[in-house]
This record gives sequence, C-alpha cells and structure tokens, in this order.
Amino acid sequence: MSRLLRAVALCLVCRAAFGAGEELTQFSAGDLQLTVRRSAQGVAVYSLVDSRQAQELLAQGPRPLFTLALRQGGSTSEAVLDSDQGWRQCVVTQAGTGLELRWSEPADESLAGISVRAAATSEAGASALHWKLYVENRSTNRSLWRVVFPQLALAGPGANAAVLFPRGPGEVQRGVWERPFNYHGNYPDGGCTMQFMAAYGGGESPRGLYVATHDPWGSTKDLVLQSDSGTRSLRLSFEHPVPNMGLAGNSFALEGEAVWRLLRGDWFDAATIYRSWAQREAKWWPLLGRDGRPDTPRWMRELNAWTIAGGAPGECVRAVKEFRAFLGVPLGFHWYNWHQIPFDNDYPHYFPAKGGFAQGVAELESAGVFPMPYINGRLWDSHDRGTEDFEFSKLALAGVTRQADGTPCLESYGSKETNGQPVRLGVMCPSSPLWQNTVSNLVWRLVRECKTSGVYIDQVAAAAPKLCMDPTHGHPLGGGHWWTEGYWKMLEDIRSAMPREAILTTECNSEPFIRWFDGYLTWHWQHDGQVPAFPAIYGGAIQMFGRAYRGGATRDLALRMKAGQQLVFGEQLGWLDPGVVKQADNAQFFRQLAQMRSKFSRYFFAGEMARPPVLLGDVPKVKADWQWSGEWWVTTDAVLTGAWRLPAEGRLLLLFVNVSDAPVTASIRPAAGWGLPAGPVRCEMTSGASMAATAAPGVPEKPATFGPRQAQVWELRW
Ligand SMILES: [Zn+2]
Repeated sequence: MSRLLRAVALCLVCRAAFGAGEELTQFSAGDLQLTVRRSAQGVAVYSLVDSRQAQELLAQGPRPLFTLALRQGGSTSEAVLDSDQGWRQCVVTQAGTGLELRWSEPADESLAGISVRAAATSEAGASALHWKLYVENRSTNRSLWRVVFPQLALAGPGANAAVLFPRGPGEVQRGVWERPFNYHGNYPDGGCTMQFMAAYGGGESPRGLYVATHDPWGSTKDLVLQSDSGTRSLRLSFEHPVPNMGLAGNSFALEGEAVWRLLRGDWFDAATIYRSWAQREAKWWPLLGRDGRPDTPRWMRELNAWTIAGGAPGECVRAVKEFRAFLGVPLGFHWYNWHQIPFDNDYPHYFPAKGGFAQGVAELESAGVFPMPYINGRLWDSHDRGTEDFEFSKLALAGVTRQADGTPCLESYGSKETNGQPVRLGVMCPSSPLWQNTVSNLVWRLVRECKTSGVYIDQVAAAAPKLCMDPTHGHPLGGGHWWTEGYWKMLEDIRSAMPREAILTTECNSEPFIRWFDGYLTWHWQHDGQVPAFPAIYGGAIQMFGRAYRGGATRDLALRMKAGQQLVFGEQLGWLDPGVVKQADNAQFFRQLAQMRSKFSRYFFAGEMARPPVLLGDVPKVKADWQWSGEWWVTTDAVLTGAWRLPAEGRLLLLFVNVSDAPVTASIRPAAGWGLPAGPVRCEMTSGASMAATAAPGVPEKPATFGPRQAQVWELRW
C-alpha cells in the first residue's frame, strides 16, 4: 500500500496502534496534513500530505526531522543524534492547534542530559505549520555543535517541477528530481540572501510547499538542497551552527520559527508570503513612507544609472563627465582606487587620497555625478605598510576573527605584496569596537572632508559570517546572530553622524543589513534561471544597483540582456565603464533604458513589484556568454518583462525590453494581483529612444509588437 493511501486510511484511526510499540499521530493545518510516527527509539515524520490534492509531498525514505551534532572538549569527532532513533523516551502530545514532540534519555549513555522539544502550531487558514525547536543540553562534557532543523525529502511536485532557492535575487531550476543538483547557501551572504525555499509544479496552476525560517535576527545558518535522482527526491534542510559551540552544556533555541506552508502558486507567491512576514517582524525592515525610504536621500532614490571607474581624478573625471553628458540623466559613480595604497593591500590605511581627489569630487558633483568611493568593511592587511606589519599585530589582531584552533582567519584575493607574496588579509570581527570605529572614521572622513556623495563599504552583505571562536570578543562563540548585530551597531553609529545627503552602500544583497544601507550592489546577479524574488520582497526598501558587465564574442547581447533585466527587476542600471560611450550601439541602448527608467523611477523607490506579465505567443529565446566566471551562458526570453505598481495612487507599470535584433509580437493577459479596478483604465504606452507615447483605453488585448532593441512601457492609471 502506498504511503499516501496508508496516511489517508489512518485519518479514520488517528493515534491508532501501528506495529509493535509504534504509534501514528495525525495533525492538520488546513489542507496540510502531517503524520508523525513514534517508535520505541524516536519520532519520525511519516507523511506530509496536501489533502485537497490528495498528494503526498514527501519522497520515499523521509529524512529525520532534526539531526544534532555534538562534540566533546576540544575533539573534532562528532556524535550524531537523529530524531527517529537513539532515544529511550519520546512523547507525542496533541492539543488544540498545537502538536508537541519530546525526546529525552539518549540510548548512548555518553550523551546523557540531551533532550529536545519541537512544537508545531497550526495556522489552518494558510495551511501552514509553524515550528519551534529547543534543544536542552545538561551534559557536563558535551557541546552542541550543529543543529539541522527542519529537514525534508520532497517528492517531485508533478509536471514542470521547479525549486526556488535564494541565490542572488532568487533562482528557479527545473527537473532537479531527475538529475544531480546541489545548492549549499551560507546565510547571510550574496549566494544565500534570504531564508526561504519552495518546491512546486503543476503547470497553469502551480502548487507545492514553502519552507522557511522566519528568523527576525538573521542568524547564521546554511540552506541546503540536494537531489537524489535514484529515489527522485530533493532533500531540503536548514543547518544551524549553535551559539557557544565548544562549551559544554550549551543549549539551542531556534530563533523565530520554521514554516511549512502549502504553496498555491509559484516563486512570486512564495516571495509574497516571505515579504508579509519580513514586513511584520524582520529587524532589518526599514521605515517606509509614501515616497519610500525617508532616510535615503531623494537623489539616491531617484537615481537611474551607474558607472564604475578608478584612479586619480586625472584618470577618470573627464570620462565620467562625458558619460553623464551623453546619458542626459544624473549618474552614480563608483570610484575605485582613489587611494594611494594598492587595491586589496595595506587596508585599512586608505588615506591619504590621490592628489586632487576632493577637487575631483566637487567637479563631478557640479556636473550631476554622485561620486561614491570604495572602502572595504571587513579586511585588515596582515602586512599593512608594504611588506611590514605596521599595526596589524599590535592593534588589529585582537579584533580579528578566530577559528576553533585559535588561528586568525586570513583571506587572499589575488593581490600581491611587493615581494611577490600573496596579500593576506585578516577578517575583522564585526563585534570589535576597534573595527567599528575604524570603519566609522573612514566613512566620516570621506563624506565630511572629501564631501563624497556617500561611501561603498565592500563585502558586508556579500560574505558569510565567520564562526568566530575568540572568547575575548564577548560574543557567543560560533553560531547565533552576533555577527549581524555587530554590523548593525557599526552602521547605526555611522548613519547617526552622517550628513543627511550622503548614502551608504555595500556589496551583494543578503537581507539582514537592509535598514542600515541605502543601496545594495547587485553585480553578482548573473545566473541562468534567476527570478526577481528579492526585488518582489524588498523593492523600495533598498535601492538595488549594478551588474558586472563583461566582454567576449557575445558582449553586446549580454549587455542588453543584463541592462534589460535590471530595468524590469527594478535595479538602478549599469555599473558600466564610462568608455561605453565609444560603443555607439551599446551606449544608445543603455541611454534609452536609463531615460525610460528616469521617467518612471517613482515606481521603483515608492512602489512595489507586481507579478511580471507573461507574454502569450511565440517568444524566442536569446543566449549570451555573461562571463561571470569564465564562459557563462545565460538564456532568457528575447523580451524581458516586469511589473511595478503604486497601489495607493492607482497606477501600474508594465515593462517590456526586447533585447534581440528582431521584432517580437505577443499579447499579454492581465495577472490576478495587479489590482486593476472593474471600472475604466487608461493605458499610456511609451516606446523606444524617442519616448513616443500613445494612449488607449484598458489593457491592450491585441498582440503588440516590441521592436528590436526597444524598451516599451505601459502605464495603467485609474
Ligand atoms: Zn569575534
């Protein structure tokens, strides 16, 4: 008998006896039906059913609900305890909307003192289970090192099965149940920016499961996906390094909740669920007013285009001004190598600046350019004056992150000392007051003395937390959320004393720093299959800007694909070299998009993303080498689409960018959730470099033609 049939049969005999000493308990949250099996040795998740679809969500051979890893003293050998075996005492209690599972008395005597409590609450209306987990550790010699919870092995969710995971903006891959697939995200970093995943299938009306941790602190954790094509299953787990790892008797409480929720929809619906949680509870959610972020200067909210260049003013100011003049709209300028020290070397001794830096800044600002110099928010060179250890050992070392064996965490990025040795940079612990003050002073000097428009602080939202084990730092050892809190303190101090017109930005887009930055550099949004889940959640809460633009034989198409995707994803465009003005076609295409965005920028900083329109008809695909890391092919539709809205103002913007060289004719079907009224709607269509506008009543039903290399915007008002 299939597990599904068994589970359905068991509806009739809840808590029926099942095998010798075994007991099944069924617990429902709306249409989501969980069955757990208690045996003499443990408690296992036996079945998870979408009862409306009569569909078993779990694959054969379910994973244990949790796995604990424990260590003794300084040993690196681990004892492992799973939820489904190795226990002498397990209790399952169901009362009202709650299910409680308890484990105690491990069979392995050396693990005496370990007990676990998992509590699930049912949210029937949403078909959601909300989990809490506590691991109590009363052992006098064992330390809890890692807790894996929750973990599930999901069966393929039907036709066109897809998995959504939080790399960069979010990414959807299909068919992973039938092929090798691995994703290992180190939250929070640029490759793991949010705390949710989803698996869904079913074509026109997709359905599946949303799995998340709703942790308002942004604690360090790993999100893992691993397929097993043999059993056609996808293992999905959240792995938590435990605070005070290495110390005996450390307990663990999951921050926030783990959520299993039936998904009636796709990646956009999953993002909507996460957004409504983040808005309510995430500590990084910023204050938002009618015009977006009141604490971000208006010029930054309204900015549409970026350039990247570097060197002394004589090496970059003129080219940047030319690019600005060509575009006809204000331009952000990410200014690298404004300092005399070499890149990724002798950090953090950025001053003195190269000659004439402050004058260059002033000249650019008077030309409508916003200069934003680079500093690094994380690294101190271990030989911080040429090949000499100037202040590293005597000043910085006490604040460098340390590994479990006591050695400091050092990193190399390809830069070389003058003696040819690789530059080795210490990763500073964000809890270190020395480091917090060092970065604060650098930022203040740049914005006050040099009067830059802001400062870019590299790596903060890009690099995963180090599990710092230095007991003198005063934070819990290893896991927890002290890492995010350390940066919050640093950034809070900086912002409180910064000129109101200056901005702070950082690299990549891991979510837990949003409130303390004005912009996130999304240069790494380079993967095939990416979807704008992050903009759907955080559009307006942070200004996103920049993609890495590269070369190669398909350079021009890759440029159009990236810029087009930036426009529909809601990012500020570019991060192009100012020399692009010499590539006439690319420069004109980019100018078209920048001017189009500038006309409608309010949607992106004061509005929110809506479900992107789906084009009906035969839309060709395009493919180019994006050169993110070596050869790097990315395929997208020839016409990229997006939708943004201003709900309070009765306005919706539909964006279409044909990045190909041929016209494409297609029609659209209005999406549920766009909020269009039953009454009359007026549609104004703006197209191409001429920004020619035509008006029509209602959403056009006839097929529209999107010209080659043309951006088209339909603004609906009611
Ligand atoms: Zn530390």
